[in-house]
Amino acid sequence: MLLNSAQLLENYQAVLARIEQFSRECAAPQPQLLAVSKTKPAWMVETLYHAGQRDFGENYLQDALEKIHALQHLGELQWHFIGQIQSNKTATLAQHFAWVHSVDRLKIARRLSEQRGQSNPATALNLCLQINLDGEAQKGGVAPEDALALAQQIAPLDNIRLRGLMCIPKARASEAQQLAGFARLKALQTQLNQHGLALDTLSMGMSGDMRAAIAAGSTLVRIGSDLFGPRDTPTPDNEN
Ligand SMILES: *Cc1c(COP(=O)(O)O)cnc(C)c1O
Repeated sequence: MLLNSAQLLENYQAVLARIEQFSRECAAPQPQLLAVSKTKPAWMVETLYHAGQRDFGENYLQDALEKIHALQHLGELQWHFIGQIQSNKTATLAQHFAWVHSVDRLKIARRLSEQRGQSNPATALNLCLQINLDGEAQKGGVAPEDALALAQQIAPLDNIRLRGLMCIPKARASEAQQLAGFARLKALQTQLNQHGLALDTLSMGMSGDMRAAIAAGSTLVRIGSDLFGPRDTPTPDNEN
């Protein structure tokens, strides 16, 4: 069941207020909100847009493309792809998105780089490396120990800008455990930056673990169900 627009706007203000509150309580920088609109209709995106939201995240390409086309008239709207990437779909990502958070292979980054050059060379495509923090086989992401080498290969590519790291940690019982996982991503960012990579983005925190992510230094939280309500369609992988 979909929320109505009044409920959606109420959720939006509540999420913004929580982000502000958690940042204050944790004495941490206030992260940007990425509104994860996967499986939800275009009118919901448009409603939040008119309330001031500009960044929206999508996992499923076909679902996303319909919304991107329907909402082309809205200026400044930035689409972020956060789902698993199939290598035969990279041209579409390079053409229509401002960000891709789920890069975990050089081959994918190379294709995005070349195809961005063909379709949209005026602005670099922002990339994050997805890090598989917990070694989970069913999730995408590069192992933490392989992240530096991959980042060093990707950063010099044309038409892209390597901005940071993203993770989807496994569900944990306590906030302290969530925090420990996110702190590892933060430490990895610091380590990569000591090697000369200028990563300014930590894409971490979802509806269930936003507070711990903010405490650990998230710069961008990806919030779906707390904004749009629960998703009733079961969805694969980069999801859970
Ligand atoms: C669905 C999804 C989210 C949002 O999850 P919620 O728990 O609904 O906030 C964030 N990041 C990724 C990668 C997702 O697939």
